[in-house]
Amino acid sequence: MSDQIEKVKCLIIGSGPAGYTAAIYASRANMQPILYQGMQPGGQLTTTNEVENFPGYPTGITGPEMMVELQKQAERFGTDVRSGWVTKVDFSGDFHKVWIEDKKEIHADTVIISTGASAKYLGLDSEQHYLKAGGGVSACAVCDGFFYRNQETVIVGAGDSACEEAHYLSNICSKVTMLVRRDVFRASKIMAERVKNTPNIEILFNTETEEVLGENDLVTGVRARNNKTNELVEIPCTGFFVAIGHIPNTEIFKPYIDMDETGYIVNEKGSAKTNVSGVFVAGDAADKDYRQAVTAAGTGCMAALDAERYLAAKGH
Ligand code: NDP
Repeated sequence: MSDQIEKVKCLIIGSGPAGYTAAIYASRANMQPILYQGMQPGGQLTTTNEVENFPGYPTGITGPEMMVELQKQAERFGTDVRSGWVTKVDFSGDFHKVWIEDKKEIHADTVIISTGASAKYLGLDSEQHYLKAGGGVSACAVCDGFFYRNQETVIVGAGDSACEEAHYLSNICSKVTMLVRRDVFRASKIMAERVKNTPNIEILFNTETEEVLGENDLVTGVRARNNKTNELVEIPCTGFFVAIGHIPNTEIFKPYIDMDETGYIVNEKGSAKTNVSGVFVAGDAADKDYRQAVTAAGTGCMAALDAERYLAAKGH
């Protein structure tokens, strides 16, 4: 049951580059936005080390620093940034109902969904066991690599993220073994070449994880199978990193918002509009192709401008 109802012109859900950019534009347009940061304040960039490709930072900036700067910029213009996450929505009426942690109820004229995406795991029982035990399974090399300094690690995946993370780990760990399920990388050529040319990264192609091995809740190795020869190998390691892609954080919007088969929100071409009037989307929640901080920021701007035009047309 709600203990209070708050009415807002513009509610922004999520605190990555998309959410904060929407907040900067919405607050400068006098929409008095409220932004809920969600489960991971700052979003995925807080798990990234150096961001070198965001325009305007010629010498790079760390992901966490960039998010602090974006939050400050949004707050400077009056955005009310709050901790907490949305647990339920009802987009069936004239105004949009949103519940924060099943308690607080908000009635918003416009909603900007910028909830991003989360890392995928393999789904093996052993992987989940050591993940929950905090014993050596991670989906973020940049966050957790430090704990495996001078130790051996294994990383699964063959995309740009896996290559970037393997390379990052190679600077910290004594050895990194990369498990690639096909005989080719999905990553861009330059990233794959970088990994191939790093002496302490060993790449095992056609290799899939069978089991994460451990003792006393701590990872001690990985058993993997060559899917061509069926040969099993046991690779000693203390850290097991998973870098196999992401899933959009859109589940709670499913009853109301159109999505593709993988859960990415479908927006009207060339705008941030969803199928529900007054509800807009920005960032990775609707983007499985680009997924960059700069594209997320760009769509955050679009969402705020679309929300502003929507409110103006309604006479707000
Ligand atoms: P991708 O979807 O590109 O790659 C996922 C990788 O994981 C694939 O190689 C896939 O294998 C593998 N995989 C998926 N499921 C399994 C499984 N169950 N077991 C083993 N392997 C599995 O995700 P990324 O996160 O790497 O990248 C997402 C997007 O972000 C891409 O567009 C990428 O270019 C971009 N990106 C860009 C960066 C940069 O430019 N600096 C850095 C990081 C990401 P398979 O190939 O066989 O399908």
